[in-house]
Amino acid sequence: MKQPWDMVVIGTGFGGSMVALAAVRAGLRVLLIERGRWVDRDDSAWDAQRILIDRKYRSASPFDTPRMGLGRTRFFPDEAVGGKSVFYGGASFRLREGDFALRQRYPDLCSDLVDWPIGYTELAPFYNQAEHLLGVAGVAGTDPNEPPRTGPYEAAPPPFSAPARRVAAAAEALGLKPFPIPLAINFASADGRRPCVQCLTCDLFPCKIGAKNDLSVTVLPAAIAGGATVMHSTVALRLRRDGGEDRVSEIECLDTASGERFSVSCRVCVVAAGAIPSAALLLASGLGDVQPNGRWIGRCLMRHCSGIVIGIFAEHTNPERVFHKQVALTDFYFGEGLGGPPGPWGMIQGLQVPPPEYIASEGGFPIGTLGAKAADRLVFLLCIGQDLPDPENRVAIDPAMTDGYDAPIPRVFHRYSRRDRQARSALYRQGARVLREAGALIRVRKPINTFSHALGTCRFGEDPTRAALDPWCRLFGVSNLFVVDASFMPSSGGVNPSLTIAANALRVGEHIVAEWDRLV
Ligand SMILES: Cc1cc2nc3c(=O)[nH]c(=O)nc-3n(C[C@H](O)[C@H](O)[C@H](O)COP(=O)(O)OP(=O)(O)OC[C@H]3O[C@@H](n4cnc5c(N)ncnc54)[C@H](O)[C@@H]3O)c2cc1C
Ligand code: SF4
Repeated sequence: MKQPWDMVVIGTGFGGSMVALAAVRAGLRVLLIERGRWVDRDDSAWDAQRILIDRKYRSASPFDTPRMGLGRTRFFPDEAVGGKSVFYGGASFRLREGDFALRQRYPDLCSDLVDWPIGYTELAPFYNQAEHLLGVAGVAGTDPNEPPRTGPYEAAPPPFSAPARRVAAAAEALGLKPFPIPLAINFASADGRRPCVQCLTCDLFPCKIGAKNDLSVTVLPAAIAGGATVMHSTVALRLRRDGGEDRVSEIECLDTASGERFSVSCRVCVVAAGAIPSAALLLASGLGDVQPNGRWIGRCLMRHCSGIVIGIFAEHTNPERVFHKQVALTDFYFGEGLGGPPGPWGMIQGLQVPPPEYIASEGGFPIGTLGAKAADRLVFLLCIGQDLPDPENRVAIDPAMTDGYDAPIPRVFHRYSRRDRQARSALYRQGARVLREAGALIRVRKPINTFSHALGTCRFGEDPTRAALDPWCRLFGVSNLFVVDASFMPSSGGVNPSLTIAANALRVGEHIVAEWDRLV
């Protein structure tokens, strides 16, 4: 521990785990620092009361979200080794080719929209690797907007269950092209692990049997087997730059179990704490003043403008009571020729109906209580609306507002634009049309106000006057500091972001290894 680590990675989510794996495979000495702990694979994992209501994995550190003149709310994320992947739904989509050049496609849509400094072709080999490492099960050639692939998926998803069949049949009747969601789930146990039993507690829950291919059962064990060390229950408080401004030499940490503070030294530092915590950590480390461009840190936060259309049916929708986050629709992805709002819209996908106790607690009385009673008769469609960048949507810190570890609490200022809300409404209308065709008696819309898809707070780009990171995700002005979580994305895309974060982190990891002698 006294020697400098070759690489210290902060955070074990998609960004951190993938970059660490690339580095250990090249023989580097890697330490991962993670504030969460390993999840318990016991009965609590699928217990709605313990996970969703008691919040067993709730972080002690909130995000503070001031509301224009109306006080504030505090949002407490879950935390664990493996990051949000442990609780996620496993939907593993690639961005579309057009996502990398949105400004070219819509030159007048938004003054802060920028093209990516890389194209789909540069990311495609890393999408292949990420799908392999995450064991994604999908059916190539069925997504009408699919970007080019060099081969099929390595595994197939199971046939549609009743709710997915119902949605797919209705969509087809309307002339749409429904297809199976590519899922990072071990359906067929090629590697001796217990396969998925297709339960109803997947999205939002850890998998009790480890069949969800989250990072804590796939990439992190591989990184550890390759020599990486994971230090859990440890918060990175600040990055220190000694002997000159342009290199991070130490990370100040706190052991949350003992309360002990200590520092670790590094040759290369990779920040991958998630789009909101990473920005707060960089700002708390004084990097907001770094030249030429620290002022971009925390800016352009996006989170997708998402919501759910809930169909209420007369009959039971899932009589077999099995997993049903299965069907996807990308027909409206760029929204062109459909007469709706300008710019990209996004996609629609099936979503697991949450357990009745959670519906009751979230919705309150009487809506939640009634919803919980009708849970067997519901179908949920998730509408992921693409939101556009705005520098005023940002993460900031106030040194006077700290958490129990004396670290600044991220303050999140965010407002959707009219166009973002219009994109969501357009998807709501399409989702409701499908559910009406499927026989839903009533359709209800519910916006999602979480930060589960937070991204964009340290965007990468060629132009140091308009981005925080260079095209290799290195912070402009600090030669050994990389940021590889969802922060790097300059636009949000219209699909779930995890596979893109993973692919980019593998790309950056390969670059760090190739450039090692020049970097250190
Ligand atoms: C319920 C849910 C369902 C989702 N479903 C999907 C889906 O189906 N498909 C999809 O693509 N995406 C999904 N997402 C989104 C996806 O999980 C995230 O976009 C992705 O995990 C983000 O990865 P990341 O590497 O940016 O950060 P994270 O996964 O947030 O990882 C960051 C890690 O850093 C740790 N950390 C933070 N601060 C510190 C610190 N100071 N010191 C040490 N450690 C720190 C955190 O505890 C965390 O483990 C879902 C998210 C949620 C919450
Ligand atoms: S559906 Fe499968 S992967 Fe998801 S929690 Fe259940 S068993 Fe695990």
